Formats: sequence, structure tokens, C-alpha cells
Amino acid sequence: MSNLVESKVLPEDRTFLSGTGEMRQRIRDYPWCQTELGPPEAWPQSLKTVLRIALSSGYPMFIWWGEQLVQFYNDAYREYLGEARHPVALAMPGKQCWADVWEMIGPQIEYVMSGLGPTWDENRWVPTTRHGVEEDAYWTYSYTPIDEPNAPNGVGGVLVVCSETTKMVLAERQSFVEKQRWQSLFDQSAGFMCILKGKDHTFEYVNPKYQQLIGNRKLLGKPLAEALPEVVNQGFIALLDEVFKSGKTHHGEATPVKLQTDSGNKLEQRYVDFVYQPLFDDNNAITGVLVDGYDVTERVLVTEKIQQADKRKDEFLAMLAHELRNPLAPIRNAAEWLIRSQQQNPELAETGAMLARQITHLTHLVDDLLDISRITRGKITLQRNAVSLSDALDQAIDTVLPDATHKGLKVALVYNAESIHVQGDLTRLVQCFINLLNNAVKYSERGVISVELSAEDQRAMVSIRDQGIGIPTTMLDSIFELFVQVDNSLDRAHGGLGIGLSLVKIIIEMHGGTIKADSKGAGLGSEFTITLPRTEAVNKSGLPTAALTSEYKSILIVDDNMDGANSLQQLLTLEGHKVKAVFSSKDALLHFAEHTADVVLMDIGLPELNGYELAKLLRAQGFKGRLIAITGYGQMDDIKNAELAGFDHHMIKPVVFSTLLDLINK
Ligand code: ADP
Repeated sequence: MSNLVESKVLPEDRTFLSGTGEMRQRIRDYPWCQTELGPPEAWPQSLKTVLRIALSSGYPMFIWWGEQLVQFYNDAYREYLGEARHPVALAMPGKQCWADVWEMIGPQIEYVMSGLGPTWDENRWVPTTRHGVEEDAYWTYSYTPIDEPNAPNGVGGVLVVCSETTKMVLAERQSFVEKQRWQSLFDQSAGFMCILKGKDHTFEYVNPKYQQLIGNRKLLGKPLAEALPEVVNQGFIALLDEVFKSGKTHHGEATPVKLQTDSGNKLEQRYVDFVYQPLFDDNNAITGVLVDGYDVTERVLVTEKIQQADKRKDEFLAMLAHELRNPLAPIRNAAEWLIRSQQQNPELAETGAMLARQITHLTHLVDDLLDISRITRGKITLQRNAVSLSDALDQAIDTVLPDATHKGLKVALVYNAESIHVQGDLTRLVQCFINLLNNAVKYSERGVISVELSAEDQRAMVSIRDQGIGIPTTMLDSIFELFVQVDNSLDRAHGGLGIGLSLVKIIIEMHGGTIKADSKGAGLGSEFTITLPRTEAVNKSGLPTAALTSEYKSILIVDDNMDGANSLQQLLTLEGHKVKAVFSSKDALLHFAEHTADVVLMDIGLPELNGYELAKLLRAQGFKGRLIAITGYGQMDDIKNAELAGFDHHMIKPVVFSTLLDLINK
């Protein structure tokens, strides 16, 4: 029989119980006549009205009625009761039903029944037994008095409207605990952190380090632009807007920021490493930005200082090397003069040769010093051409052969292929080979230095092996670092600055190659292997093509360094040339007023008119002879300027005499 059909047969004064639903049915079926409450038709109108409302509502509702607090509840309330109390709770006296929590709810019911008014509780803990187990449960509920004029205090019963908030309370508690946890982590962080909420970047959380960074100003609840007005025009708000809009993280490194770090108005320059990380809600919408970073001001300032000191050191080295070059030139000339003029006196010639060797050594040191300072300042570019590696090796071997022979060392060549070319800078490659060969000579007392050239697919390999003192295995990598020497505490018998191998490595790497050192240990010799990308194209333009002539020339030397000018004059005179030396541009012009010259050897750093100006003037006056610049300035710009001024050649002091002769005789 359906409830609807049944409801039709109810006596008229029971119609407040008509309708469908389990609880209506149960209330209708309950033997109320056997209870103090009597038959439903005799119940007070106030109870009937409230009960009718409760049974029609989808909200969970519960009623305690009369002195016994007899219970009614609607369908929505059933599940709150659980199996233990439903359906037995219907018509049961309240105290009996809720004995376990009566201490908690009893006084509240008592309060309402005494006519003191309604109660309201939010998220109150009222443990509930469900499925036979007592569970923690939270409720938001109101106890509302049901007015009944005939009842004591005018209150017939209590209407309970409630909802269970257990899930929400537990979730909130969980998120609170999580928030506490990250907050305590953030609080202890060594970096600064804050959370900015919303489009206007309002401070929601700030950790102590952040507070410290901004001079302990009050931030919470304020938008960034208002709390830290000094950052508005420094680009940070625009960055935050972008992160908030795009959802993309932003990283900043050593970013300068001017901040008011104390109570005064003065802004202080700070540097920060930081991350702006977008924060999302459950629906993936951006809610704010987490700012996390470090104040790296000290690090930046120290780095700047180190860089400045390093730059000053590089500039000093460059100047030192440049200044050292000047005196080397006359000494070299004097040595050459001794060798050439003392054919009859072998002892003096030998002294001259020794002097020349030492000058060559010193020149290498100075060149390395100059090069490394230029390289570290990024001032070296390669002049690339197709270079024959065997030619480059031959040139390098020619340079070191006198020293090797002097020490009784043999140099053995094994060229495993006819022509192996690389795209490179001939001068620089020769310089690398000279450095390696010089080391082989320097660190060997006996045996053979083997130079091997081979090729494999697209790679060319040069290996230089000696039978000298060897290198400890632990140092094989570090010897390529600047200023590293195997044992610089010894008596420095080998000299050197620990620059050569660093230079070689940088230059080879600039060519796209690699270098590695091998040694079986102390006393067992060393091997350096260079690998370079090979090229097929052969371009002879970079190779020397000088054809010597034996014609004697009239030469004018212009150099304000009198020693340099005079010693060079002596040497060239010895070769049969007609040589005059003048020490100023004015004297040079006077010379040309009456004479001419086949070749002019000119210093650039002259007082009054410098070398470029003098050269231009001579060319303008119609001088057709050869102009050779001999100078301490050897950078690309200097060479270009010399060319523009009308020079035919540019040589760096101290010049190798034989090369100068080649140029004069051209
Ligand atoms: P320098 O020779 O001026 O000290 P380098 O940079 O050319 O500087 O070499 C660094 C160090 O590597 C040398 O001091 C030496 O200890 C070691 N070394 C280089 N070449 C050899 C070699 N052929 N045999 C033994 N040790 C070498």
C-alpha cells in the first residue's frame, strides 16, 4: 500500500502527518496511545506545526518535546543517527538516547527549555556513534524553543536544525596544520620569503628575513606598491603582474634593488637572487605569488672588488710586459752584434749566443705574460687560414732547436701523412708548439724529443713526447691551469711562470681542439697530445714567401730609445747596409729634407709627431721606400692603424733579427 493512498484515510486531525517518507510513516505507525504523549490528534498545535515543517524539510531536523524530551526527526536526520540510534531514537526520551553525550548537550537543552532563548553552535565537537564505533564529529546547530503556552516556561520543546561539518572542520584543521608547518619552515629560512595575494600583490605572509630586508616596516594586509613605494619604479611590480598573468615562474640573479632598509628615508643599494613563483588554487586559478630569495649584496660587492682587482692585475701585467719589451730590443741587438762581429773571437761569439738564448727565453716569458692578459680580457682574435701543421711544427722546431742541441737533446720527427691542414692562426699554432717544445727541452736532461703528426678521419693529431722528469698523475689535469707548476717550492731551477700550458690550452680550444697530458710518473717522460679539426682546403696566403736579395739598402732608423736605435744601427751596418739613426720625428723630417732612404724602421711611440703621423707625412711628401713599424704595440688595432698610416710591415719588439733582414731585403 502506498503512503499516498494511506494518507487519504487518515482522520482529519492527523493530516499534519500526511505525505510520503519513512519518518512520516514511522510516526504514523508508532503506538503513541501507549505513551504519555497520547494519540497524535491530541498533540498541541505547536508540536503539530513544527513537526509538519520538519517532516517536509530537506534539512536535517530533530525535535525534543515535553518534559521527557520525547524525540522526533525527519528523513534527512536519519543518517546522522547511524544504525545504533535509528529507528529506535523515535519517541525515545532524549536523556536515554543521548546518555553518552548528555553532559555536553543536556545543559543546552535545559537552557532552551527554561525559556532563556535559542542557542547557536558552530562546528562544535559532538562525538557520534556510527556503525558501532564512536567517531569524532563536528556540528553546526541551533536549538530553537517551540513556543507552547500551556507548557512550563512557555516552551513545549526544542527544534534542532543542524548540519554535520566534520569534513570541513577536518580539512580546515589539516590546512591550518600545513600552513603552520610551512610557516615555521619559512620563518626559519635563511632566505627572505613572502606571499603576495591577488592582483594588487597584497602581503599575506612575510618571514623574518624579508622583514629585516625592508627595515621592519608593517607589510601584512597592504599591497606591495603601498607598503614598499620605492620599488614601484624599479620594474618589480611589472614582473609580478606578468607572473600573476602568465603563471610562469620568474628567476632573477644578482638583481639590483634600492630599498629603504632602516627607518630613515635613505635608499640602500642591495642585490638579490630571487624567484617569483605563482600560487594556484584547487581550480588551477592563480591566487598569488610566492617570493623566495637571498640578499646577495655582500657576494656581489666582493665579486665586483675581485673583478676590479683582477682587471687591474691584467692591466698591470699588460703594461709590465709592454714595458719589458722595450729594453729587450737593444739587448737582443747587442747579442746579435756580438755573434756577428766576433767571428775571430769565439769566446765573445759564444757569449753573444748565450745572451741571445736568454733573451729568447725572456722574450717568450714576456710574450706569454702579454698574451695571457690579453686572452683573459678577450682581446685576442684568431686570423684563420688553412695552415699546414707540418710547416707550423717545422717553424716551432727551428726556434727551439738551438736550445735542444745546446742541452744535448735530439728532436725526432715522424710525419705520418703528407699534408695535414687545419683552419687556424699560423702564428698562434706555432706559438703553442713552441711552448710545448720549450717545456720538453726545459724538463728533460737527456734523450729524444719526438714530434709526431698524424691524422684520423676529420681529426689531426700532434703529439710531443719527451724522456724528461715526467708529471705526477695527480697533476695531469691541473697543470693546464694558470700559474700551476708541479712543484714551485723547489729551487726554481727551471724558471717559468706557469702560464705557457694555460695559453696553449686556450688557443687550442679557440681552434675547436683539445689537449691532454700523459705521463707514467716522475722520471718517465711526458707526452702532450693535441687534437684539432682537420680541413681539406689549402690556402697558402698565410705562409711566408720572402725571396732574399743581396742588395745593400740605405736605411733610416727613427727611435727615441737611443740604445735600441744605436744597437740596431750597428747590427744592420754589420750586414753591409748604409744605416743612419735619428731619435725624433723632427730629425727624421730634417733627414728627408736632404736625403732619402730605401727603408725606414720607425718606432710608433715617438714624442711630438708619433710614428703613424710621421709615416703619413712622409707618404704625403712622396716617400716611396719601405716603411717598417717596430713597436711594442702588437694588437690587431695597432697593426691596422699602421697599415692605414702607410706602413708596409709591422714588427713587435724585440724583433727577430733574421726576420727583419728578410723584410729589408724583400
Ligand atoms: P712553466 O713551464 O713556465 O712553469 P707551463 O704552463 O708551461 O709553465 O707548465 C706548467 C707546469 O707543468 C710546469 O711548471 C711543469 O711543472 C709542468 N710541465 C709542463 N711541461 C712539462 C714537461 N714536458 N715535462 C714535465 N713537466 C712539465
